[in-house]
Order: sequence, then C-alpha cells, then structure tokens
Amino acid sequence: MSTLPACPKCHSEYTYEDGTQLVCPECAHEWSADASGETPAAEGDKVIKDSVGNVLQDGDTVTVIKDLKVKGSSLVVKVGTKVKGIRLCDGDHDIDCKIDGIGAMKLKSEFVRKV
Ligand SMILES: [Zn+2]
Repeated sequence: MSTLPACPKCHSEYTYEDGTQLVCPECAHEWSADASGETPAAEGDKVIKDSVGNVLQDGDTVTVIKDLKVKGSSLVVKVGTKVKGIRLCDGDHDIDCKIDGIGAMKLKSEFVRKV
C-alpha cells in the first residue's frame, strides 16, 4: 500500500488513485499524481550548452570566445580560435577537443560558441 497525498483543496485523507489522477471523494477535486516533481533527466542525457545557449553535440565546430590559458603551459588559446570536432564529456571542463598548434585539451562550454 502506498500512502497517497491528502487532497490539496480540502485536505481530506480519503483520496484514491484513478489511473494517473488522484481523486478526492469529499470535494471531487482531481489532480495529477506526478505534478509534484518533474522527472529528472536520465543520467548521460546531460545537455551541454555553449555561451549563448545553443545545445552542443559531438562533432560540432565551436569558436573560443575568450583567451584561455592552457593549464600547465604558457600557451594561450586565443579568442576566435576555431575548434573542430568537439567531443562532449563529463566534468568541470565538459568539452574534449584538439586544437591546432596546441593539441588535445579540455574546454568549458561556457567559453565557446557554436559555429
Ligand atoms: Zn478534497
């Protein structure tokens, strides 16, 4: 037996399920049982967006929107650098890529813009 929520209108405890709806027999109020929370996105379905809100996908080409220092070196990825064939990954830096003259590195999606 699952505990059903009380009626949001009259707070009656005698609510019952009718399909996906909950029904209150006392005031005849009907409401959706799953209205209380959106279904969380499945793991691995994380949407990664660029600096302006475009959804990024594997293989996309992006440009860098600000100078980015390459960790552990004196190299800088200049603003406007085109990055082809990005690969999305998990983590703080969510883009895996290879940049001409620099090599494989990771970028933050907030510092790129989809071309
Ligand atoms: Zn009610």
